[in-house]
Amino acid sequence: MRKSLQQFAAVCVTLLFTLWSSTFAYGYAFNEIVPDVRQPANVSGGSACPVASHQLTSPAAIAFRWSTALGTNPATILTQNQTPNGSLNEIEQAIQQSLGVWSNVSGTTLTPSSIAPLTRVTASNSCGSDGIDSICFDQPDMAFTPGVLAFTRVITADQIGIQLGSGPSATQVGQILDADVYFNPSDSMVTFATPAALPANPKAYDLESLLTHELGHALGFSHSAVWSAMMYPFAPAPGTYTNTRPTTQQPDAPLSDDDRTGLRVLYHNPTDTQFVGSIQGRILPANPLSLPVSPPGVTGVFGAHVVAVDATTGAVVAGTLGGWSCQAPGPVQFDGTYAINALAVNHSYKIYAEPLNGTVGPSAVSNAIVPLCRNATTDPGWPPLQACVVPQTDLEFTAAELSSP
Ligand SMILES: [Zn+2]
Repeated sequence: MRKSLQQFAAVCVTLLFTLWSSTFAYGYAFNEIVPDVRQPANVSGGSACPVASHQLTSPAAIAFRWSTALGTNPATILTQNQTPNGSLNEIEQAIQQSLGVWSNVSGTTLTPSSIAPLTRVTASNSCGSDGIDSICFDQPDMAFTPGVLAFTRVITADQIGIQLGSGPSATQVGQILDADVYFNPSDSMVTFATPAALPANPKAYDLESLLTHELGHALGFSHSAVWSAMMYPFAPAPGTYTNTRPTTQQPDAPLSDDDRTGLRVLYHNPTDTQFVGSIQGRILPANPLSLPVSPPGVTGVFGAHVVAVDATTGAVVAGTLGGWSCQAPGPVQFDGTYAINALAVNHSYKIYAEPLNGTVGPSAVSNAIVPLCRNATTDPGWPPLQACVVPQTDLEFTAAELSSP
């Protein structure tokens, strides 16, 4: 979700099957889900290690429709072309460009062919838990608390074989079954403008920047604490847009390297040879007595924002949330482990760790933190040996450079 800059709070809504949760994250982070190991291993995979939410990327697997129902009095979506058809075409082009921003990142399995042709639907309430990915501009929702400009509701499969409505049956744990993007239709102070209409409407929010951010959620991203990232939780100021407009030459131009790295991790392309660098380690306190005593078993710093910086250019390449590892059959171990993968080879990196105590706090990435554990309290009948409790995010430690080349 995206909030206006003046206010912050937490409501990028992600849904882990029947259970609502708010979602957020710092350097790239993903919506995580623990497979339902109460089910037979052939549908759960048998492991309580978290799986990142993701779409399938086979040809035309990602099929969005958008509702042509638009708020008209006053108009919420401003276009340059004022004719009914011209206006719809202009909005559709913004949606297409926003999808293209993500599908044109090199080194991933998400490609333009993964995206099915965009379709239209007329009903204003087309967003719902129906197994169809939809974009709605005129559908009210309880998640529109003050300051929320747009949000995305994602439902992820925690076992193979489940489905929503008429949608496809999940073939993978972590598969996104439904992702719906909602734009605030009912705040008289909030309007959105297409790229063509933005210059003449400097009080409007940039539709394309917000769409691209929300589609990042629909692809499985939580939030990023990297301020230049598309997945930073706060929208660009009215009349401005995030980074650079997409162009034919560089359709992914609006993204930061943090977004690109995250996408390469989430949609790993096994044939790629360029982004195969990996840096891993553990963040441990100098004084182990500073670790929390509850829940038991915490042996490292949890929730550090770990950032990789290109040692030559000083550019932030990726940030992620450190603090845990997991090996089948799980559960997660809170041992301070971090890993930053999909880094370009033949570069040197510096790694920093900082507490998540800036404008992007733990609540902004809660859908990357809260779902790391399931237990008998969250899920009756959960097997004790695969249960865990997520510790508090450690906000007390001092920022540090972890290594240099
Ligand atoms: Zn968001």
